[in-house]
Amino acid sequence: MSVERESPWGLMAVADAHVHFFSHGFFSALAAQKREVTREVTPESAPELTIEAIGEQLGWHMPGAEPQQLAAAWVHELDRHGVARAGLIASVPGDEASVAAAARAHPDRFFAYSMVDPVRGWNPDGLEEIDVACLFPAMHRYPIQSEEARHVFEWASRKGRAVLVHCGVLSVGVRKKLGLESRFDMRFSNPIDLHAVALEFASVPIIIPHFGAGYFREALMVADLCPNVYLDTSSSNQWMRYQESHLDLRQVFRRALDVVGPKRLLFGTDSSFFPRGWHHQIFDAQATALYELGLSEDDARSIFQENLLRILAR
Ligand SMILES: [Zn+2]
Repeated sequence: MSVERESPWGLMAVADAHVHFFSHGFFSALAAQKREVTREVTPESAPELTIEAIGEQLGWHMPGAEPQQLAAAWVHELDRHGVARAGLIASVPGDEASVAAAARAHPDRFFAYSMVDPVRGWNPDGLEEIDVACLFPAMHRYPIQSEEARHVFEWASRKGRAVLVHCGVLSVGVRKKLGLESRFDMRFSNPIDLHAVALEFASVPIIIPHFGAGYFREALMVADLCPNVYLDTSSSNQWMRYQESHLDLRQVFRRALDVVGPKRLLFGTDSSFFPRGWHHQIFDAQATALYELGLSEDDARSIFQENLLRILAR
């Protein structure tokens, strides 16, 4: 049975290229960081912060210890919205086993993405089941041209996998809500720095999320010069506020279609936590904008599903 969703073009199979898999491991890592901070302030009376306490603080549902439970919750959620597939991102380095388990349990529904920190160490053996290695150079503070980062591209090239490189403005809502510092460094966030790397690893699909998250022009430039660079459309694209002249979603898509074309845009939402679940408003807004631009049904199918399936096919 194929899962389809109502769209302006009629029923359509949709693959979401960008969903965060906030696993038990993810929240445990945040709880550990929060405990560190608290201990520095009040060394004696630091309370043990459990992930249940985090859930209470955020008003979010906390996942059980087994990633299969969260995977089942996402399958249920995608079914509810008529979404066929999603790329699930393990959102702290070292949590790749959670998304691997989800993809193993539901291979027709999920792709496995994992955050990799090439500087503080990563284990390629742990990435056997990972489709996309996600690099966050500004978060982990390294240049994308560094030797360490190149090893990840070499791995992707050898294994036939993709690499996502987060560029532009990065704000992690859950860290803010928990009062965790985010000592990121935006010097490492310009898509231009990807140019030579993308040319060198021409066989590796490279995904820049959120249209470059503020570096729209630069993301378009790199994508124009490198046919292996893809843009994901995910999130509410708040970066549009930084544009010198007003841009709306329709204009963003117009320019992206003009420069990059419909074969290298990947629909995504940036969904992450429950109870919100799948962020259907993002789909609605993007589908409406593209429909109003006169996008053909064929091109819509490319953007909303086929491009992702094509680049992640193994
Ligand atoms: Zn994201």
